[in-house]
Amino acid sequence: MAAMFLATLYEYSPLFYIAVVFVCFVVTSGLVLGWFGVDVPIILRNSEEPDSISSISTKPMMQVKNPFGLEIADPGAASLSGGVALRLDCLEDCRLSVFWGCRVQRVHEALQKHVYCAPIRTPTAMEEALSGEYLHREQHPIPRQSGGVLCLHLPQDHSVQDFGPVPRSRYPLVALLTLCREEDRELHLISSMLTVIHIPDRSYRLPCRIVHQYLLTAHGHFYDLKQLFMSANSSPDAPPADPPSSDVERVVEEPVDLWEEPQEDGAKDCVVCQNDAVNWVLLPCRHACLCDGCLRHFQHCPMCRQFVQETFPLQSPEGAHRISAD
Ligand SMILES: [Zn+2]
Ligand SMILES: [Zn+2]
Repeated sequence: MAAMFLATLYEYSPLFYIAVVFVCFVVTSGLVLGWFGVDVPIILRNSEEPDSISSISTKPMMQVKNPFGLEIADPGAASLSGGVALRLDCLEDCRLSVFWGCRVQRVHEALQKHVYCAPIRTPTAMEEALSGEYLHREQHPIPRQSGGVLCLHLPQDHSVQDFGPVPRSRYPLVALLTLCREEDRELHLISSMLTVIHIPDRSYRLPCRIVHQYLLTAHGHFYDLKQLFMSANSSPDAPPADPPSSDVERVVEEPVDLWEEPQEDGAKDCVVCQNDAVNWVLLPCRHACLCDGCLRHFQHCPMCRQFVQETFPLQSPEGAHRISAD
């Protein structure tokens, strides 16, 4: 229609045709560049303009001392038939209660009971909450600051070769750490730690790893402990962690411990300016990749493009000031 009009116009008067096309060009350019006070179409606007990110909230930080330390000593060697080795390092005398083949639903009910009626501060409380829905249970005393490795096996008389195809109804291993002494329970906000461990078996061979680690507080709350993804150690093509889910078979990228020693100089440089130290963690993707200066320029994570809903600093501005002033 417009082409026919232009063709007819050109036949009528080439000069007038050129003038009309020129005026249309000028008006369009003016609209796009905002010459007439009309707002620029949203599609042409940079979504990461600094004035558009004021809505991202900053999470307040709370420092909590966790008296429990549990990690898998050699994930590659762990299997259901060969057992698993756990490295335990606790600040106080503790008791480790392990439950093999624990029913998934019972574990989550136990966490709910901790919040609403029966706080889990002792092995007995956990046993009552699980109502016997596990294959095997054992307990080990863990002396304070022992840093020892404990090898755990599911006894052969259970003759369990695997926990069946996914989705599964049982966790291979659930480990509960509780404080032995009553006075320690008064001292620490974190009263127990519940760790859910995946152990490879015949039908599901993903390497041994911690699926969930819950910190249970004396005030009847629990927090799912998550690790952060540091920019220097994450490969750009690896996806970030899946959103939190109750699925036992959740697969996540290998997380990096935030408090590990930096592997090389500048290993924790900001991914954008490559100059300042990383200080901000973006949520929900948990990428720690931006410095103080670059944070305000981003509404999406520069590593995974996920929309940033919240942020929190690794080091408060006052703390940074104090360190630099020393
Ligand atoms: Zn930066
Ligand atoms: Zn991200």
